[in-house]
Amino acid sequence: MSGPEDTVRLAHGGGGRLTRELVGDVFARALGNPILNRMDDAATLELQGRLAFTIDSHVVSPLFFPGGDIGRLSLTGTVNDLAVMGAAPLYISAGFIIEDGFAIAKLERIAQSMRAAAREARVQVVAGDTKVVEQGAADGLFITTSGIGVIPAGVHISAAGARPGDAVILSGSLGDHGIAILSQREGMKFDVELKSDCAPLGEMVRQMLEATPRIHAMRDPTRGGLAALLNEIALAAGVSIEIDEAAIPMRAEVRGACELLGLDPLILANEGKLVAFVASQDAERLLEAMHSHPLGTGAAVIGRVLRPGETGPGDDASRSPATAAATPDTGSRSRNRVYARTVMGSRRVVQMPAGEQLPRIC
Ligand code: MG
Repeated sequence: MSGPEDTVRLAHGGGGRLTRELVGDVFARALGNPILNRMDDAATLELQGRLAFTIDSHVVSPLFFPGGDIGRLSLTGTVNDLAVMGAAPLYISAGFIIEDGFAIAKLERIAQSMRAAAREARVQVVAGDTKVVEQGAADGLFITTSGIGVIPAGVHISAAGARPGDAVILSGSLGDHGIAILSQREGMKFDVELKSDCAPLGEMVRQMLEATPRIHAMRDPTRGGLAALLNEIALAAGVSIEIDEAAIPMRAEVRGACELLGLDPLILANEGKLVAFVASQDAERLLEAMHSHPLGTGAAVIGRVLRPGETGPGDDASRSPATAAATPDTGSRSRNRVYARTVMGSRRVVQMPAGEQLPRIC
């Protein structure tokens, strides 16, 4: 039997005894460490060097899905944004917005899941906040995490850093997270259960940087998928990119689900994958380092950054008025474009995804 005493109530957010109990019983028990346990108004940290600092809010629906839950996602999402900047992720803060009536048992499960992910990622949650809002004001639970990491000397990774001739490397199968969430929502069944790829990438990135610190650009293809990532890099670096669709690692179930749902796999969210841009002479060494880590066994070169003058056939035909307005013609028609060589051998333009096609995917 569950009663009101087993759920989070508005009074738990009042800042008094009930708040202390909730924080102590659920969050400090799962996530406690010497820094968090001081329960000061702010964590105090000793850090040296160039820092990476990021924040991400998580509103995924459903809260529990194959391969993870909002707790694991909120931890790894922020860890990965630090990791793809080349930073060693160190400290995390977490804010929980909880709806009145949320089961405490579910909150405990989510906190334990964050604990496991934090251990995997070798980070500590050192600051936190909880607020309780009335029924209807939040859909169960939202979690915002921010994180700090230290960037090793000699590492300079930026979206603007991609250079003509660079190899484009994807760390593994595309679209697992997006399809795991959608299949849970739609009640789709597969022969093999499809799981989210939700995982912390810090350790793999550390190995990658050991193999070559000269990674030019790196990003994780989360919301908006590979299509958004490549377009962002193309715009930031002022380059065009061509990918080879046949080279993109993808599970048969993901491919099948995309056909069934009419989705382009390039827009699907991923939560344990990254895309790296490196000079072609460094690509082999980087791939080797990725293959030697469990999260990178499927890594593959999926494309390259085009050199000036390398343009795509059919460019003008596929240039939509919206894109033309966003990227004014500066004389070179194929600037900042992303092309995909299709399995049929033709070439198409990969557009920046428009609007919110897959709401609350992360
Ligand atoms: Mg990111």
